[in-house]
Amino acid sequence: MSLHYDVIVVGARCAGSPTAMLLARRGYRVLVVDRSRFPSDTISTHLIHPPGVAALRDWGLLDRLIATGCPPISTYAFDFGPFTLAGRPGHAAADVAYSPRRTVLDKLLVDGAAEAGADVREAVTVDDVAMEDARVVGIRSHAKGGPTVTDYARVVVGADGRHSSVAKAVSPARYHERPPILAGYYSYWSGLPMDGRFETYVRPGRGFAAMPTHDDLTLVVGGWPTAEFEANRSDIEGNYLKMFELALDFAERLGAATRMERIVGTAVPNYFTTPFGPGWVLVGDAGYNKDFITAQGITDAFRDAELCAAAIDHALAGTRPFESAMRDYQQTRDAHVLPMFEFTCQLAALEPPPPELAELLAAIHGNQEEMDAFARLNAGVTSPAEFFAPSNVERIMTLAGAPTPA
Ligand SMILES: Cc1cc2nc3c(=O)[nH]c(=O)nc-3n(C[C@H](O)[C@H](O)[C@H](O)COP(=O)(O)OP(=O)(O)OC[C@H]3O[C@@H](n4cnc5c(N)ncnc54)[C@H](O)[C@@H]3O)c2cc1C
Repeated sequence: MSLHYDVIVVGARCAGSPTAMLLARRGYRVLVVDRSRFPSDTISTHLIHPPGVAALRDWGLLDRLIATGCPPISTYAFDFGPFTLAGRPGHAAADVAYSPRRTVLDKLLVDGAAEAGADVREAVTVDDVAMEDARVVGIRSHAKGGPTVTDYARVVVGADGRHSSVAKAVSPARYHERPPILAGYYSYWSGLPMDGRFETYVRPGRGFAAMPTHDDLTLVVGGWPTAEFEANRSDIEGNYLKMFELALDFAERLGAATRMERIVGTAVPNYFTTPFGPGWVLVGDAGYNKDFITAQGITDAFRDAELCAAAIDHALAGTRPFESAMRDYQQTRDAHVLPMFEFTCQLAALEPPPPELAELLAAIHGNQEEMDAFARLNAGVTSPAEFFAPSNVERIMTLAGAPTPA
């Protein structure tokens, strides 16, 4: 068997192209394959929090994104009905967020991988992995109407999303599994200026958000619990529009705007997988997934691409055994995302905040420093574990002169 590649990456969007790019920049022979042809859209809204923006800057891709005319987002505003918490999500590494169309973002990432020296094959579907002695040694793929082609590599990376064909072939162990919690739908509107703000509205049984994107459009996304999925699916447009009446000012602004595209959406499961085994690694949604209400998926995929590429580099360079480098990748990933995973699942239920959280939110209201900290929590800059630590909660309550929750 002759090895053609060091690494084959299946999937070329938020997780796959950065993984391929980072490995190609380290001098590895990398192939990245995707059944899409870029630019192409995918079902996903696309808020990138400041840590994700910092990754783009570190990779030398942020200036290209800014040059596409994508408007920066400097304020996150959370409207809970009685009050709004508006703060700055930025941190030292990046002071704003962006919400680029996936047609623009994903193309930019694919180009980054190609420029780094990776071979990019678009419009090619991976059908299966090639196995030898219970080890993944390559992929079998085909272009439309073409023959099956087998390519070999020392490591195959599944960056092929929630319906990963690599994961299906290797059946990784799953943990922390939860079924879909929220059904979300979105479209693009013109005539709805956002002035650099990402706005979120939290109402019992409903949550919705608006963010500026390319071409002077505003993405408006909202959802309801999956328990209503069946009942509402015959009139998604009616239910989507009715939801905004729960925030009259927003409904009025939307009433003066024009919807430019069809409404699309979905509901996603929540899970972690063991992201490695003999000859294979999973990254991005293929490796773990959570509801999109906290908009962490792209930023997480970027961070995991860095972790995963560094671990593969160790394994291929022989500086660490594959198993130990990958175990660290998994543990670092899990330690980082588990608190946000729990917070996300809680928010996605769209239930009224429990009394102690309601008291905390009220105590934050009006204190700009704490509202900034709350924005950073939602941006994934500060871990929920840190923000909701008893000492921090007590500090906020004391500052507000409120009794500390029991
Ligand atoms: C409704 C919705 C809203 C969201 N909103 C946000 C948000 O605002 N912010 C945020 O950060 N995240 C958001 N997310 C999550 C985000 O979309 C994902 O976390 C992110 O796209 C994961 O990137 P990925 O590269 O792992 O997978 P994907 O983006 O799914 O890319 C996988 C790629 O693999 C390719 N592929 C799959 N199978 C094969 C095959 N057999 N052969 C070849 N190619 C294959 C696909 O064509 C695709 O291009 C949202 C998700 C949804 C569903």
